[in-house]
Amino acid sequence: MNEKASQPPTIKLEPRLSGLAKSATLAINEQSQALAAQGKQIVRLGLGQSPFPVPAVMLRALQLNAHQKAYLAVQGLPELRLAVSRYIERTEGLHFTPEQVLIGPGSKELLFHLQLACDAELLLPSPSWVSYAPQARILGRDMQWLPSEPGQPDLDPDVLDRYCRQQPARPRLLVLNYPNNPSGSSPEPDRLQAIANVARKHHVMILSDEIYSGLDFDNQHISIARYYPEGTIISNGISKWAGAGGWRLGAFIFPTTLESVLRSMVTLASESFTSVSAPIQYAAIHAFNDNEELRDYLDVCRRLLKALMFWSWRILESAGAQVTRPRGGFYLLPHMEALRDKLDIQSSQALCQYLLDNTGVAALPGTAFGRAPDELCVRLACVDFDGEAALAAMRELPIGTEPDAAFLLEHCQPTVHGIQRIAACFQG
Ligand code: PMP
Ligand code: GLU
Repeated sequence: MNEKASQPPTIKLEPRLSGLAKSATLAINEQSQALAAQGKQIVRLGLGQSPFPVPAVMLRALQLNAHQKAYLAVQGLPELRLAVSRYIERTEGLHFTPEQVLIGPGSKELLFHLQLACDAELLLPSPSWVSYAPQARILGRDMQWLPSEPGQPDLDPDVLDRYCRQQPARPRLLVLNYPNNPSGSSPEPDRLQAIANVARKHHVMILSDEIYSGLDFDNQHISIARYYPEGTIISNGISKWAGAGGWRLGAFIFPTTLESVLRSMVTLASESFTSVSAPIQYAAIHAFNDNEELRDYLDVCRRLLKALMFWSWRILESAGAQVTRPRGGFYLLPHMEALRDKLDIQSSQALCQYLLDNTGVAALPGTAFGRAPDELCVRLACVDFDGEAALAAMRELPIGTEPDAAFLLEHCQPTVHGIQRIAACFQG
């Protein structure tokens, strides 16, 4: 019999994915790589990836554990969970047991699972990192931006209070990230205390995203969990301060009051990623354990970043941008209102295109971080330089000497050139 070939059914895509594209941070990285492959000179201030190598102590541990082939416990390797709990005790003075820690393939994945596990409205201070809001959208969760004035990115507790008072009983999840991506800011302790008071009053659960905690320039990071222990989940990982973004490992630390959330996430993990790669978990123990090598590594990274970020902040500010003084990490979010009339640019998207076309600098528009499209701000990730060579040069500096502009020009190119070129846009 000559049967007519039937047409394959059309695959229907999940409607919640429509209108979403590849995450802005990852897309700009691929776009920059493609331009560089065409021979264009691009200063890559788009993707926020640590410029520094993974500490040698972790590399050695990874090599020694390459043979680890078994699936590990869903919640994570017990020795690693112990190391994470001790890390929080050491850095924050907060006591947790290994049973309160969950290890996942990057904190981004854990955040997604948290939003999947909890039927809660997501609250995000504007500006916030690019992926929180799309995750809520994919999962069909409601989300709300909490506004801030340009150049004052820390969440205002009164804004949170006013919003929560509108529907007092609604379950909510507030994501706070500090040192902040995209602004580099960190709230002062009294601000954290005030936010904690409001969150407690309205029973808002907080996910405290502390992935840049180890890069607080003065090593003074303070978790909001100190002020709101019963309602805060701490998120951390090895992607930023241990330079291991591509290793894909993050950790959540839960208060006992939120044990049911932890349990649900473990169930979800058991049906999704199973557990994080075994050799990576063994190696990550050495990121969280106290050791001389890591302390030295972090000290040098922080000193270099402090010098580079302060220098960049000053150059942009004196050129005419409005920039928050950074406290940690490697991001700045300059507001460049002065360029609106001068260059006839009306959106942050157009500003990024202008910078790419005219200065060769790849950056991300403020819109990707929840700012209004017509606000002329861009996120700069000051990471385009050879971090390994720069750390080696730092170690050659005489004791007590901090890197100056000449050092940065020599060892942090092309970032320094990129900042200078952006500053030059204000001249003339
Ligand atoms: N939070 C913030 C603020 C980030 O910048 C990133 C990007 N790495 C993440 C979370 C996710 O980090 P990872 O998944 O690599 O742990
Ligand atoms: N967090 C980094 C950034 O903001 C990139 C990694 C990612 O988005 O997953 O640029």
